[in-house]
Amino acid sequence: MEQYFKILSDVTKKSVDEDFMIVFFDGNILVKLEQNSIKIPLLKELKSLNIKYEEQFFIGEIGEVSCFATETHSEIKLSEGFELMSLRDFANTVNECLFSAAGRANQILHWNRTNKFCGKCGANTVTKEDEIAKVCPKCNHVMYPVICPAIIVAVMKGEQILLAHNSNFKNNMYSLIAGFVEAGEDLESAVKREVLEEVGIKVKNVRYHNSAPWSFPNSLMLGFIAEYASGDIKVDGKEILYADWFEKDKMPNLPEKFSLARQIIDGVVYKD
Ligand SMILES: [Zn+2]
Repeated sequence: MEQYFKILSDVTKKSVDEDFMIVFFDGNILVKLEQNSIKIPLLKELKSLNIKYEEQFFIGEIGEVSCFATETHSEIKLSEGFELMSLRDFANTVNECLFSAAGRANQILHWNRTNKFCGKCGANTVTKEDEIAKVCPKCNHVMYPVICPAIIVAVMKGEQILLAHNSNFKNNMYSLIAGFVEAGEDLESAVKREVLEEVGIKVKNVRYHNSAPWSFPNSLMLGFIAEYASGDIKVDGKEILYADWFEKDKMPNLPEKFSLARQIIDGVVYKD
């Protein structure tokens, strides 16, 4: 049976030895190597490492087993069978279920680190017992994890797909046009604005495709497909360095398999 990760809104559970424990240190995730596969360790398996845990969060269930997330600020003395790896390497190695759990862990821990003080009055915040939230004991202001929505769009011109090389991309990789949704903006307008700003193209028939969390560190990607309407490619030269129309037998280097961008590209280009 395929493993799945489930988020629960009741977060009052406390960890026991048999639970999964996702531990981050310095941005890397602690994993257990078992018969050439990468696992999230159980709390009891971590005993020998004597980790000084920070605050723990119940983030959901992997299969029937509760999963917790925490981090440590003191170096972990790794014994045999344990390794620290980046979330990106983890994503490239494990199944979708484990990546979902680790991604959520990364988002919650990032939020925990960056919300130690009340955004309203500056007092120290306290983590709520019954939900993932921080409350200010002085002014009662409540702060939930912030999720930043971003659109990503496959622009199609017949059988051709518009792909662009962003100045941050390595290995001459090309991907879909993407960008954050502005405050007060609807998703379709964000799609049209980003494509026009980044490559000078107008699009029409913007349709929602699917979504995926992007936990680097706290985004939600909303995938769209749009049709070319008018204009010639003209890159902005800052964020986007090159862009072009590609066909399925001549595709450039594409993003990693776990990314929503790649899933959409594969879905629209290799649909038959
Ligand atoms: Zn306050």
